Amino acid sequence: MKEACGVFGVYAPGRQVAQLTFDGLYALQHRGQESAGMAVSDGETITVVKDMGLVATVFDERTLSGLIGHLAIGHTRYSTHGSSDWTNAQPAYRPVGRAGFALGHNGNLTETDVLVERAGMLPGMTVSDSDVVAGLLASAFPGSAGDPETGELAGVLEAVVPELVGAFSFVLMDATHLYGVRDPNGFRPLCLGRLGPADRPEGWVLASESPALDVIGATLVRELVPGEMVVIGPGGVRSVRLFSTDEVDDRLCIFEFVYFARPDTRLHGIEVHGARRRMGELLARQAPVDADMVMAVPESGVPAAEGYAKESGIPYGQGLVKNRYIGRTFIDPDHQARVSAVRRKLNPLRDNIESKRLVVVDDSIVRSTTIRSVVAMLREAGAAEVHLRVSSPPFAWPCFYGIDTPTREELLAANMSIAEMERYLGADSLAYITLDNLKAAIGPPEAGYCDACLTGEYPVKVPLTLEVAPAPPGRTGGVLQGALPGV
Ligand code: SF4
Repeated sequence: MKEACGVFGVYAPGRQVAQLTFDGLYALQHRGQESAGMAVSDGETITVVKDMGLVATVFDERTLSGLIGHLAIGHTRYSTHGSSDWTNAQPAYRPVGRAGFALGHNGNLTETDVLVERAGMLPGMTVSDSDVVAGLLASAFPGSAGDPETGELAGVLEAVVPELVGAFSFVLMDATHLYGVRDPNGFRPLCLGRLGPADRPEGWVLASESPALDVIGATLVRELVPGEMVVIGPGGVRSVRLFSTDEVDDRLCIFEFVYFARPDTRLHGIEVHGARRRMGELLARQAPVDADMVMAVPESGVPAAEGYAKESGIPYGQGLVKNRYIGRTFIDPDHQARVSAVRRKLNPLRDNIESKRLVVVDDSIVRSTTIRSVVAMLREAGAAEVHLRVSSPPFAWPCFYGIDTPTREELLAANMSIAEMERYLGADSLAYITLDNLKAAIGPPEAGYCDACLTGEYPVKVPLTLEVAPAPPGRTGGVLQGALPGV
């Protein structure tokens, strides 16, 4: 699975912010590795630099020193809608108004085709949904003359954003102001930080995840609430609610806690690492097993494995070594390539494994490529038993809200019962955490989550009609009926 994007923005009068933006994007690299970019304003002119590749590849010292200004937004991208090429790299820029505006988007709009026409683009054009939003904003510009208090974009956003459907956390800027917008379900995270002391703020920061604030010495102020826009400029931070209370329904992606977000990120006020450890603890209570060692599939399974070990009393040990210099397995497009990529990435520690009954903890099983290879590797290395424990419920439905997931046909849990999966994966036993236990591990109880990929219950209408029939006996998911091209 691929997180779609990371966004960052900073407004710091009197400072050069290109380096701060670089550092913030570097902290968000895990959210998108296809392309990176930033837009910087000195109050008069906006300069945009973007390219394919990692943050450190796109920006070197020379490039950063040429980006002059106290206001910037930045973006790291993985594509969910629109092809993976330079034209779809972000920020998207439109030369309207006094000096134009720039936009960075994390999420996925679910009615892009309708919006393409409204934005005056040609149907069928290969554009990202973020480009479509930039087009819509640009077409709304005439008549929304700039106001030095609010910035040029504020009125345009107030008019256009309520029409958008789907998942979006935006950072935007015109020449003088920084803006952050979160959709009414708050699918994707976005937080506000402050540079300098509370009584004398020296600047303001927006970021997908709080570690991007930490690395530049900013303090987390709060997460934007679903449906909120913040406008940041010389007058400070102004908050605007873009949706009525009826339209707002907190549905932060539950997989941010399971897998996507960094462990040191705070979401819903909770540190993700602690939530992942508690998932392991509850999983140990829910699905105990008699074993000699608990190990993780590195790296994202580690906190849950530690939690499982603590709760069960079974010693935690390392069973696999990860080659840190190999990218994520999804980079390889075909299945065979993915299998060999897993082999290149992970290697067993034979002395730790031989003759042991292992509990192997992973955060999720999607296609199963990685975990199936892992089980085979552990058995070849002499493991006596392999018991799989998964710190999220069966992933049986595709995501439409900013995560690039396989088709339903490729999702293991959509096509097999637990017993079938055990046999297919070559495991002695397989157990998933329940959704109730996952939510209990995260807390707080009043928080809302999207869990559509686990339940098939989509909080926002998806592209084509989905009719969900009851799950067949022994299966974990329902049945998706009707043609779903591209799903
Ligand atoms: S469908 Fe799953 S991955 Fe997508 S936003 Fe909802 S919880 Fe997250």
